[in-house]
Formats: sequence, structure tokens, C-alpha cells
Amino acid sequence: MPIEELWNQLAHAKKASDYTFREIGVPKMTLSEAKKCRKLCEQNVCKCYGTNWGCPPGAGNLGDCMAQVKKYSHAAVVYRKSAVDIKDQDALKSLSGVLQNHLRDFRNLLTENGYQAMCLADGGCNYCGVCAYPNECKFPEQRVNSISAYGIMLMEYLEDNGIEFRFEDGYATFYGLVFYNEKDDKASS
Ligand code: SF4
Repeated sequence: MPIEELWNQLAHAKKASDYTFREIGVPKMTLSEAKKCRKLCEQNVCKCYGTNWGCPPGAGNLGDCMAQVKKYSHAAVVYRKSAVDIKDQDALKSLSGVLQNHLRDFRNLLTENGYQAMCLADGGCNYCGVCAYPNECKFPEQRVNSISAYGIMLMEYLEDNGIEFRFEDGYATFYGLVFYNEKDDKASS
């Protein structure tokens, strides 16, 4: 089944039809941009650094993360704009968590349908509530890693694909990325 139909199936089942699903190009990653991205992680504004297997350094070294992205021939973005007080951290976390859960379910659905797939979201993995880091990840097959850990500058990536990335008073938009190969794709090394 084509990927967009699978997304529509999930969106219908999870009452997530207000999310936009759009196929985009795979990111043109450069090491210098990716290093900048990791530097932003190290500043730890989100307070996830060193606390979660989905974020650096637990997510793996930058070279390995970049190599994982390059294994995929196709990409898509999933997003939704929500009215929210941007000072309300609990509400922001909740919105981000809902999207991450949809991405996890979608990746599992893609895998069941013969796709190789990886989904990335904003911030650390939320599957356990409190991550087991630095103890062993409890559910590696359910883990969703952070976009920044993979060296992807989200704003630039989306704008390269014609998607405007805007900050607006009273609204927040959360984005998730889906990387995938169809059954007949040859993954690049
Ligand atoms: S599955 Fe649990 S232990 Fe593993 S990264 Fe996610 S929250 Fe942490």
C-alpha cells in the first residue's frame, strides 16, 4: 500500500486527520551543518541532553546518525499547528508527545507493511515517561530519536522543501520526520 494511504489509515484510526502528511526530499546533510546542530544540542536549552537515549550523546555519535539517515531513499514530514500558550511548557510537551506517539505507531505500521522506516521527532523519546538513561533502553524497538541528534537543521530542511517554518504568537507547530525505503529500494551504504 502506498505510504500516504498508510498514513491516512493511521490518521483515521488515531483521530489525527488534522495533521498534514507530505512527502519531501531526503535531507542534503553536510558535516559542518550537522556539527552545528549537535552544538545546539550541547547547549541543552531543552534540558534533554544526557538524559534520554533519543538525544545526544545516547542517540549515538554524529557519524553513525548521519549514516543511518543516508540509508533511506524517501522522506516525509508530518506536522500540525496548534493554538497554545508558548509559555505553557506542560501543554507544549503534551502536543509534542502526541505527535511522537503517532510517529511511533506509524513507523510500526510501515514496518508491518514491509517498509524499512525510521521516524524522528522533536526532543527525547517519551515512550517510558521517564527514560531509563543511562541504564539500558527498555524498549529499543519503540524508541523515537530526536531530529537534532541526527544533525538535521529542521528549519532549513523544511524551507528547502517549500515548507514555511514560522513562529507565531499563540501557536506552535510540531514536526516529525519519516525516512523510509520501499521493498524494492536498494539502501545506500
Ligand atoms: S524506549 Fe524508554 S528507555 Fe528507551 S529511549 Fe525511549 S523512553 Fe528511554
